[in-house]
Parts: sequence; C-alpha cells; structure tokens
Amino acid sequence: MKVGLVYDPIYLKHDTGEHVENAGRLEAIISRLEETGLGQQLTLVEPRAASIEELSLVHHREHIRHIQDVAQRGGGWLDVDTVMSPDSYEVALYAAGGAIRATESVMDGEVGSAFALVRPPGHHATPRRAMGFCLFNNIAIAAEQALAKYKLERILIIDFDVHHGNGTQEVFYDSPQVMYISTHEYPFYPGTGSVGETGSGAGEGATINIPLPAGCGDSEYLQVFEQIIVPAARRFEPRLILVSAGYDCHWADGIAMMQVSVTGFGQMVRIIKELAAELCGGRLVFSLEGGYNLKALAASIKATFDILLGNSVDDPLGQSPRSFGVSGIDSLIKAIKEIHNLP
Ligand SMILES: [Zn+2]
Repeated sequence: MKVGLVYDPIYLKHDTGEHVENAGRLEAIISRLEETGLGQQLTLVEPRAASIEELSLVHHREHIRHIQDVAQRGGGWLDVDTVMSPDSYEVALYAAGGAIRATESVMDGEVGSAFALVRPPGHHATPRRAMGFCLFNNIAIAAEQALAKYKLERILIIDFDVHHGNGTQEVFYDSPQVMYISTHEYPFYPGTGSVGETGSGAGEGATINIPLPAGCGDSEYLQVFEQIIVPAARRFEPRLILVSAGYDCHWADGIAMMQVSVTGFGQMVRIIKELAAELCGGRLVFSLEGGYNLKALAASIKATFDILLGNSVDDPLGQSPRSFGVSGIDSLIKAIKEIHNLP
C-alpha cells in the first residue's frame, strides 16, 4: 500500500526565530528523506487550509479570532513558550488542514497510511487557548472532521510525544467515540496526564494516561505498548488510528529526559501499524508534534516511514550512552491495567 506524505514549504513560514520549535526541524527531515532516496517511495499529498468551520469543531471562535488578530498585528508571544509571526495564522490553518488531508487521503483510499509533516504542532492547544508551541490542535481537528465526514463510530489517538497532550485530552474527555492514550514523562510540562485522569461522563475510561518516570527507554516503552496500548486498542475496536507523533522522547533530545532510540521508535510504530492492520483495515495517520534534536528527529521520522513502507530500519544514533535504570514500571503498568480493567 502507498504511504502518503503531507508536506508543503508553507510550513517553514511560521517564523519562531531562535525558538527550539523552528523551521529547521522540517528542513532537516525533508533533506534526510531526499538524500536517502526515501522521499521517492512516498506519495505526496498536498495540504489545504482548514476552514473556520473545521477549526470550530474543536476551538471557540474567540480563540480563532485571537490567533488571527495577533498575526495581523505582526505576531508576538502568546505565553512564555509560544510565539507567532505574521504568517503563523495562515500556516496554522495549513497545519490543521494537513492533518485533515492526511486523514482524508487514508479514508478515501488514495494511500494506505499517511504522515502529516506539519508545524506548528498541536496537541497542547485547548479549545480556548494556544500553549506549548501549539496554536490549533491539528490531530483533534482531524479526528472531529473524520467523525463528522465519514460517520466513524470510534477513533483511537495514540500520543507518544514526551509531553502529555493536555489539549487533545480536554477536547475528547467526555467522548466515548475518541479514545486518547498518551505515554509521557511525568511529572513534567504541562502537568496533566496522571493515571487517575480517565475521562468523564460517557467518556469515562476512554482516556488512558501512562505517566512514565524520567529515564525510560526502548524496553519500558515496548512493555507499555504491549501490555497496555495493544489490549486497550483491541477492546476499543477503532475504525481509524491517529498518532500524535512526537520524537522528543529520543535520548539525544535535550528537552526531556527519556532514553528512546530510533530503533525503539521503529518498534513502537511497528506495533501501531500491526494494530491498524488488525483492527481498522490498516487506516493509520501520523501528525508531527515535538522532536527537537534535528539528527534524532530526522532519523526517527525516516524510521517511521521505513516501517510504514515495510523497509528495514537504520539507526545512525544508536542506543543511549547513559543508563538510567528505571524502577517501578511493573507496578505502574499493573495499576493502569487495574484502573482500566485490562486483561
Ligand atoms: Zn513534546
């Protein structure tokens, strides 16, 4: 099956200056895909701008207007982490629209799976506010749009970014139709994502948080994927799997303290791919969130595409030179399985 790549140079126009979330991230990824010849194996899917109606599936109109206003006034800081340039509003429309197009290309059968290489990222953006480098919640908008357009009964969102996707959790906290599962360093920014946050009302149980201690690497992540994410996904029976793909849990990434390798990302993506094949006809969409060490980010995304294409994975960075020795994973997994009644 074809693998789609959603990309457009417009994503470079969200100018954040010296910020860690900058255009150089996408430039590093694209040049890696080009120099390895991998880009030629992908099917380019052109993004479009999300409409105001599509943004409004997740965001309040005042928030959308605020982002538009700040851009028109020349940009500026929205909070201590999040900055905009004059073009950022338009780019953010294309980031949300890129996640939508990736989803449409998979749902319409143009490609088997797809990856939206977009920025700004999205998973911290809440219905009412931008935060954590995120303006609009790309993956949440794509999920809502897919529920509406394709009348899907259930969508699973897996978020392996090192940070908790507080915005995505908030959007779907009451929803039985969208299961949100997050692995993240904890305690850490943004502070949410404890085991006890499990959803509310009709959505009770459809939020699964896996808050991991600093220092977790490939073996801890694989344990969590096999023992929690796989059985939870099987029970939920999604019709589509979306992934908030953040690569800032790589050991070389300076923003956090996790120890995942490129090989580890490949193994996680393989598990997700097999889940999609088993549960929902292979329908699988990735949307880029974090990842700030350019070498690790580019190699990890190439590894993601290699798994989707059925290629072998190369890991130019290797395993972490540090060994943290994390304890307590078994009891954490046991506690989460008990809370969520998982086999
Ligand atoms: Zn992150």
